[in-house]
Amino acid sequence: MDPVGVAAAPDAGPGPAWQSKCPWGAPNTTSISCSLADVMSEQLAKELQLEEENAAFPEVVAVAEGPFITGENIDTSSDLMLAQMLQMEFDREYDAQLRREEKKINGDSKVSISFENYRKVHPYDSDSSEDEVDWQDTRHDPYRADKPTTTPRKGFIGKGKDITTKHDEVVCGRKNTARMENFAPEFQVGDGIGMDLKLSNQVFNALKQHAYSEERRSARLHEKKEHSTAEKAVDPKTRLLLYKMVNAGMLETITGCISTGKESVVFHAYGGKSATEDKVIPPECAIKVFKTTLNEFKNRDKYIKDDYRFKDRFSKLNPRKIIRMWAEKEMHNLTRMQNAGIPCPQVVILKKHVLVMSFIGQDQVPAPKLKDVTLSSEDMKKAYYQILKMMQQLYKECNLVHADLSEYNMLWHDGKVWLIDVSQSVEPTHPHGLEFLFRDCRNVAQFFQKGGVAEALNERELFNAVSGLNITADNEVDFQAEIEALEKMNEDHVQNQGKKLPMFSSDGDPPIYDE
Ligand code: ADP
Ligand code: MN
Repeated sequence: MDPVGVAAAPDAGPGPAWQSKCPWGAPNTTSISCSLADVMSEQLAKELQLEEENAAFPEVVAVAEGPFITGENIDTSSDLMLAQMLQMEFDREYDAQLRREEKKINGDSKVSISFENYRKVHPYDSDSSEDEVDWQDTRHDPYRADKPTTTPRKGFIGKGKDITTKHDEVVCGRKNTARMENFAPEFQVGDGIGMDLKLSNQVFNALKQHAYSEERRSARLHEKKEHSTAEKAVDPKTRLLLYKMVNAGMLETITGCISTGKESVVFHAYGGKSATEDKVIPPECAIKVFKTTLNEFKNRDKYIKDDYRFKDRFSKLNPRKIIRMWAEKEMHNLTRMQNAGIPCPQVVILKKHVLVMSFIGQDQVPAPKLKDVTLSSEDMKKAYYQILKMMQQLYKECNLVHADLSEYNMLWHDGKVWLIDVSQSVEPTHPHGLEFLFRDCRNVAQFFQKGGVAEALNERELFNAVSGLNITADNEVDFQAEIEALEKMNEDHVQNQGKKLPMFSSDGDPPIYDE
């Protein structure tokens, strides 16, 4: 690949300043001859693997060239995609070359310099680890001051002309070198610590400053990268996850984007072969990618923060993990629904923030949302009773409230209604669970009343029918007040007794509607 050509691709930006000043010249991609040391090195092994991965990429690029990204301008977006792919490949090559340079310069020397900070694919961006470093979880706190090695009170050691004071350049230098250990683990300090390397105060302070700002910088860099791509499709990291699924044969092809929402992007894919015999991958799949741009998720905090299933974990998590938790939540909720026989997508696999499930629809055409389909009055009535039953099942058998139920999240397929989009679903005892249920009931009641289903219960009747509760208030304001009172009562009970009120469990089970 021609690095110059690729560097000119959009997004490439000007090369780093060191490139022009670098005493070893600009990196080029001509491979250098192998020595025995090279052959034995782990680095080479990694490089070879990288090369293999790179070789596998073009195939997938062809897939990605399709209408992978929706929008009015498909051509440009796939160009953009291609450019990004090339850029990524170039960045990797660039890094590989950097590693070679680094190795060449360092040779057998005990002191090594590191080009880590010049790498394009930043360690924080690397996808190799299943889980990135979570500062909160690591024992090692880089910001905790280490006990300094002290010079005796008198301020000097030794005798006569061998006396060394605490200001001695050599002593200070060694101390400074040792202090580099306090830097974050990602900060490459070479093996200077283990040997007699002396850093002047000035150099040390500069290094320290750099080490501390490095993490902040990388976080910013990372965010920027994601913002630039998440708008139209997905960030490079997610793309890699998708490619891996295709490469593994689990998915045959990713054909296109079905939906770009605020919080997720959904793709259509043809299923491939499963690695294990017992699992069958559906012929058509939907891939829901939870967006890793964090802003939109802020207003969803209340769903998950108060969900006791996630309570313990919430406080310890970084935002990236919280996004994964949404995907995880959708998976668990779908599984519960599947077990209760509610028509909904079947979970295929969850990888980080990417959920693969069965596709509701046919031949790449997703089933229409209830809001977009015109049903005969007979079908409308049928749909209504089906939804009533599903809501009851969801509540009773799955112990769930959908919490975003409306004609937007119900698909009409195969003559019946399918429920989707359950990442925000909560258990009825969630501190706001009943309020969410009431909102769901209002959406459903209004939709079917407008749709001309005379039998449709009003929202309050529907709420009672689903929950099995018997709230008697005859107007909305009082009804909601009673709901909130119930929630509060339950919360207090949980606080005091550590358990839920019985009315939420077996006693008030709603009668399941059956035709
Ligand atoms: P969002 O949070 O963005 O609303 P959804 O889960 O509702 O996410 O998915 C967005 C859209 O993608 C849906 O309205 C539907 O059209 C489509 N979609 C999602 N999952 C599937 C699926 N399993 N099969 C077919 N279409 C789906
Ligand atoms: Mn939705």
